[in-house]
Amino acid sequence: MARRRQVYEGKAKVLFEGPEPGTYIQHFKDDATAFNAQKRGTITGKGVINNRISEYLLLRLQEIGIPTHLVRSLNMREQLVRQVEIIPVEVVVRNVIAGSLATRLGMTEGTPLPRSIVEYYYKSDKLGDPMISEEHITCFGWAEPHELDEIFSMSLRINDFMSGLFAGVGIRLVDFKLEFGRWYHDEDVRVILADEISPDTCRLWDMATDEKLDKDRFRRDLGKVVEGYQEVARRLGVLREAPTAGNGQATAAS
Ligand code: UDP
Repeated sequence: MARRRQVYEGKAKVLFEGPEPGTYIQHFKDDATAFNAQKRGTITGKGVINNRISEYLLLRLQEIGIPTHLVRSLNMREQLVRQVEIIPVEVVVRNVIAGSLATRLGMTEGTPLPRSIVEYYYKSDKLGDPMISEEHITCFGWAEPHELDEIFSMSLRINDFMSGLFAGVGIRLVDFKLEFGRWYHDEDVRVILADEISPDTCRLWDMATDEKLDKDRFRRDLGKVVEGYQEVARRLGVLREAPTAGNGQATAAS
């Protein structure tokens, strides 16, 4: 097979040129980083699980009318996606106080918020993704006001839908991060959901025990990292037990 041209390598994913113009292949790695890449590691099997979870969630979101970059899954670690111009803003939606919100404002992690909060961060590794306001985004032209309106309303709809979806499998959606991009298509341009949604980008707690089933297991050295991700996948029904493994190991359902 001809060697594919790599377009971009991020911390957890690689983008290759796709088979058709206007597409990329998004490849999920097992690499993990935290604290602006000061902590690095490998979580064996993470890429396979995140590929499946993200595919599942984006497909469900497409069903409720959220436009996404996902075209289709290609194999265990890769999906075909639409080429977009990434808007350099990370959108964080929060339902429960955790992570940087707890640290920055000295609040107790685990306290439910009276209403969901949407925050914006400027995508810059060099600057450590600083928090920004809507004013910065429109002032510096990172997104047009109408684009930001769409991003905001899509983010809240995604939160409503995913909160319900996860609650249905006994998981609390504490917070998560989204990225959006501009898709140039048929002489038109549309803001669509890009990147991934997975335990790397969400905080997911077991509703009964508050056990963390997400990247905080890696960030905070809680152990059993891949087991947390597997549990999320299993509950969403995208992972099945390997019939021959006999040791409780699971594989991504095909
Ligand atoms: N998040 C992410 N990528 C980032 C920063 C945050 O996916 O570069 C996710 C993170 O996993 C969590 C949510 O966004 O689900 C909120 O993260 P927070 O602001 O609390 O930052 P953290 O303390 O996790 O760095």
